[in-house]
Amino acid sequence: MKLSELEKLDSQDSLAKYKEEFLLPENTIYLNGNSLGPLTKRSKSRTEETLREQWGNDLIGSWNKHGWIDLPLTVGNKLAPLIGAKQGRVICTDSVSVNLFKVFSAAFHRNPDLRKILSLESNFPTDLYIADGFAELLQYQNITVEKVAESELDHAITSEPAIVLLTQVDFRSGAALDIAAITELAHKHNCVVIWDLSHSIGVMDLKLDNWNVDYAVGCGYKYLNGGPGAPAFIYIGNDNLADAKQALQGWMGHKAPFEFSTNYVANPGINRFQSGTPPILSMAALDAALDLFAELGTQELRKKSLSLSESFLALMDSQETFSELKLASPRNPQLRGAQLSFSHPEAYGICQSLQEKGVYTDFRNPDVLRFGFSPLFLSFVDLYRCSQILAEIMLDKSYKNQKFAYKNKVT
Ligand SMILES: *Cc1c(COP(=O)(O)O)cnc(C)c1O
Repeated sequence: MKLSELEKLDSQDSLAKYKEEFLLPENTIYLNGNSLGPLTKRSKSRTEETLREQWGNDLIGSWNKHGWIDLPLTVGNKLAPLIGAKQGRVICTDSVSVNLFKVFSAAFHRNPDLRKILSLESNFPTDLYIADGFAELLQYQNITVEKVAESELDHAITSEPAIVLLTQVDFRSGAALDIAAITELAHKHNCVVIWDLSHSIGVMDLKLDNWNVDYAVGCGYKYLNGGPGAPAFIYIGNDNLADAKQALQGWMGHKAPFEFSTNYVANPGINRFQSGTPPILSMAALDAALDLFAELGTQELRKKSLSLSESFLALMDSQETFSELKLASPRNPQLRGAQLSFSHPEAYGICQSLQEKGVYTDFRNPDVLRFGFSPLFLSFVDLYRCSQILAEIMLDKSYKNQKFAYKNKVT
């Protein structure tokens, strides 16, 4: 692809104006929004205001005066359109890991005959760890966790009713599962589905209500730019909210927390999926970042991110210099999320070399280099510059430098 073609794509890009909403350092090309979204101007000023004006001046009165107590639901309602959910079905709370535990407990409570959690062996490890921990805790109920290869998934779903736990977009390869089709198949075989949307929300065209998804969880700090450790969310679909019961029934999920009654009575709505006090500083940063998405449709976000990844793939395909980087993502754009992965024996060194030159990607064990295509702050010309810097590195082999021999804690 020529520079002029990419400049033309930028000039026609209806989302180009969003770039100025972000506070990225000069000469930085950030292809890591799939791991930690960058800071927005809105989150910065909102966090400062929350610290100084609200916490600083209005102190504890802020719980009422600034709506802190309602923030988990306020944010949940802003998340809802991004996943195709009605208002009142989404709550912002805790981490994905903790939320999975709550959702398992709700799903098993509602479907006491089910004895199995079915997932993929390639699923994000925290999902599998929480499933195993949950099953071990309930060992006397003989709950098993079955982890199968993707090629065996359909067969496993049709063989025995289970709680099917899947992540739509694979964090290693970027491959995307078909939520609508798998959910339909699962329901036909009396299974219940839990979808992890951590690598989906903000970049995929999601319609959870229409697809009859039972439960979903997802992340606030990736494509949503909510900040490091931003709180996650829970979606409760179909009629699963009525009488839903979850095990981490803390006071913030109580119908009237400030009555301080001895016995738990659940909030009638989605608030019952909260446990403890919400992290207001983090949640305010996410809340502000979400305002950027207010006027955007999920189709528009998906279209731009695919157009970015297709352009990048064209740049990679057109140069012999890149032949050692093997595409580890589906070539068909419809079968992947907003990410491209390439495998190379020295992927870690390449990632570190790129970062020294202002190009952010990340590395995943054992040999994967990931590029994330966030639609709101990347331009097409950014991709051109990235490909030039990557070409330099592949030619001068700076990735072989000894200083990259030992990996950092976070890769
Ligand atoms: C990032 C990610 C998580 C993160 O979980 P936390 O508990 O919020 O840290 C979970 N699942 C998937 C699929 C992810 O990509």
